[in-house]
Amino acid sequence: MSAQVVQSVAEVQRALDGIRAAGRVIGLVPTMGALHAGHGRLMEVARSECGCVVASIFVNRIQFDRADDYDRYPRTLTPDVEFCAERGVDIVFAPSVEEMYARPQRAFVEVERLTEHLCGRFRPGHFRGVATVVLKLLNIVRPGRAYFGEKDAQQLAVIRRMVADFNVPVEIVEVPTVRDADGLALSSRNQLLSVEERRIAPVLIRALRTAQGLVAAGATDADAVRCEAARVFEGRPEVRVEYLEIVDPEEMQPVARIEGRVRIAGAIWIGKTRLIDNLLCVPAGSSR
Ligand code: AMP
Repeated sequence: MSAQVVQSVAEVQRALDGIRAAGRVIGLVPTMGALHAGHGRLMEVARSECGCVVASIFVNRIQFDRADDYDRYPRTLTPDVEFCAERGVDIVFAPSVEEMYARPQRAFVEVERLTEHLCGRFRPGHFRGVATVVLKLLNIVRPGRAYFGEKDAQQLAVIRRMVADFNVPVEIVEVPTVRDADGLALSSRNQLLSVEERRIAPVLIRALRTAQGLVAAGATDADAVRCEAARVFEGRPEVRVEYLEIVDPEEMQPVARIEGRVRIAGAIWIGKTRLIDNLLCVPAGSSR
């Protein structure tokens, strides 16, 4: 199988016009490349639901709050294209920076409230950059469905809200997090970890699972759950916890009492690498 690699906006639009006219549903999987099985799952789900699958690969400078993070971000286009082809992607849209930002970007998408906590608090401008590039991609590709991972739950909530508030005619599809055997969520950043750092990294999912277990067992005091979960990091000087918060799953606001479904989300630094993860927590007997 081979995928068509397209670098220009005009060319991808030309390629998709005929497909749209033929009535085939277009599915878009936006990525920043350095593809792994998590991205692969998004592509497989898109493949099973759409007549034409487009994967975009673009490391979006304007969503990086730190220049060093942008510079260190892995870029592996040739194997990525192969990876897409193996999963049945029809078109890989891999624009250059000049193609995506042909002139200085003056219009930006700001999603309020949902971006106040979690990553939004620690990465100024991050979600503005994400929402802006995703709106550009949705306008370029005009997919019927677009696929995003639960791994980045705040990003997903922000995109859902942007699409709803701007009446963008696309269905946003959430795909569950793909993990390694030890629970670590797959991430392009995992390849930046040393062997020793990789060994330590599952501490994050262990903390989240501790919280999930407490909520399932009936705990309702969010602070107590958070503190108990944070104890997993004790005696781990290599790990710096950036945040560990319990929020409502739609507006991403911290909750004090756990009465329905909540999300526990965390970000940690191990050495120079930042890892994030989250889990949905469902109280015992909750249908909400
Ligand atoms: P990224 O390339 O990191 O911007 O991610 C592109 C898309 O893949 C986003 O929608 C992510 O949420 C999703 N994704 C990243 N890692 C995973 C994973 N481990 N499981 C499922 N989806 C993922």
